[in-house]
Amino acid sequence: MPRVKFDTYYKYDELTAILHRLAEDYPDLVNVSSYGKSHEGRDLWVATVTNFKTGPAEEKPAMLVDGNIHAPEVIASMVALRHLCDLVEGYGTDDDITRCLDTRAFYIIPRVNVDGAELALSDEPRFVRSSTRPYPFDEEPLDGLLAEDINGDGHIFTMRVPDTNGRWKKDPDDPRLMIERGPTEEGGDYFMLLPEGRIRNYDGVTVTPRHAKEGLDLNRNWPSYWKREHEQQGAGPFPLSEPETHAQASFISSHPNIITWIAGHSFTGVLLRAGYNEPDDKMPMTDEAHYKMVGEKGTELSGYPAISVYHDFRYGRETIAGTVGWGWDHLGIFLWSPEYWAPYRNAGVEPEHYGRWLARHDADDQRKMLAYSDKELDGIGFAPWKEFDHPELGPVEIGGWNLFRFLYNPPESQIEKETAPFSKWFTWQLLMSPRLALRSSKVEALAHDTHLIQVVVENTGYLPSYGSGKALELKAVRDLVAEITLPEGASLIQGELRSEHGQLEGRAGKPSITLGAFLSDKTDNRVKLEWIVKGASGHQVEITARHDKAGHVRTSLRCD
Ligand SMILES: [Zn+2]
Repeated sequence: MPRVKFDTYYKYDELTAILHRLAEDYPDLVNVSSYGKSHEGRDLWVATVTNFKTGPAEEKPAMLVDGNIHAPEVIASMVALRHLCDLVEGYGTDDDITRCLDTRAFYIIPRVNVDGAELALSDEPRFVRSSTRPYPFDEEPLDGLLAEDINGDGHIFTMRVPDTNGRWKKDPDDPRLMIERGPTEEGGDYFMLLPEGRIRNYDGVTVTPRHAKEGLDLNRNWPSYWKREHEQQGAGPFPLSEPETHAQASFISSHPNIITWIAGHSFTGVLLRAGYNEPDDKMPMTDEAHYKMVGEKGTELSGYPAISVYHDFRYGRETIAGTVGWGWDHLGIFLWSPEYWAPYRNAGVEPEHYGRWLARHDADDQRKMLAYSDKELDGIGFAPWKEFDHPELGPVEIGGWNLFRFLYNPPESQIEKETAPFSKWFTWQLLMSPRLALRSSKVEALAHDTHLIQVVVENTGYLPSYGSGKALELKAVRDLVAEITLPEGASLIQGELRSEHGQLEGRAGKPSITLGAFLSDKTDNRVKLEWIVKGASGHQVEITARHDKAGHVRTSLRCD
């Protein structure tokens, strides 16, 4: 197939067609299936990517890459899709990708919230936080101002309305920009800024902006730290009440091989990591070290700082019931939520605190961003003010910052560049996963019909078999299971048909010095499995060693 183009944002049908075409063109590497249905009945797609010739994905360590749980954050969808494309194109030519897909698997969910994104990408766009199910009330919003594209240009911008007591005035340096009126200032030309839209039942005086009736936030609908609506907006009536979150949580629960989960958002240009609801000193030290190491690599590849949500990204002191929290807090899956796209950094503005910057920043930062849009993005970041005769407010102007194509997402011309760095980071992370492998095996005849069978299995991955220390602490990961299948008539003299064998360490979390007086490596990354079998002479016995996270190994041994 021709290379997928990263110069546009795909609507649902186009995205669906691309995914299925990739599965048809790369049948040995890609399988696309539906893991549920959205509120509006759209299939929720997951692409499973691995070399199927070396075994099914469920028997390999895996990473989940998703994006776009929030409706307008469509760039996150493009990063996930780009990763899928980079994997299939890199298989056989790129050594890391080839090795990764031969031994491990990716689950890629390019669009978590298909209904909300479709609304944002429609020809008459509307922007809601998440999905399109009415919540908390299934009724039209009360009278007031509702955002919509009223001049038919396919965008929702801002209305600049003359108001003698307005909060805003034109920037004397660049009258496109609106700056705050001084605290003691009077006598100028002032304006009120409102979202583009009509005012239902306008009384000629008061304007009350109303939220859309689709008030859910799917990223507040997860079980860990879930709170009711008055404490956490958009939380839904109960955890996993929504079809999209329920389907994804079910998918994750039934895929215990997932070690890392990348939940993609926009914007800011940061790699957010756990803890989300707890400080670093509450997390196992080896996990903290792992997050920091992975974060440094992410920064090296993408230029994005890697930061903890708890320490560096919360707006206040709240805890959140995000995907991010649930995966880490309940399952011990390494969790990252990158906020792709850094419009202000690109413009030369680097906020000290991202959340606080959004609430309040200097006019000079806006001037820099406008200059960036003008010079490097053909002005797409800021729509020139256009006069419009508003049915309720009279003459107004419509224009201003392009929230969808400048703040939340890069304009189309930048998608290719913006999506490029991440596939390498994801692949590098998954290559660190634990992985079971057969180290050796032997069959020894003890008597003419009695054989000793010995199989040594090892973890060849960098991480321990349990992935994170958190997963171990939560008892969210099962021990290694060994099974032996005997031919008919044979029986075990020693050993069990199925038995558990603890965890296998990796190379992570070990001292990195060679001078220590007490330094000694250990063989804690391997396990010796033994059975004595009677009555299998001339037959095969089948051995399976499986670990939920580290994968499965099988061998067939002949008792001669
Ligand atoms: Zn988001």
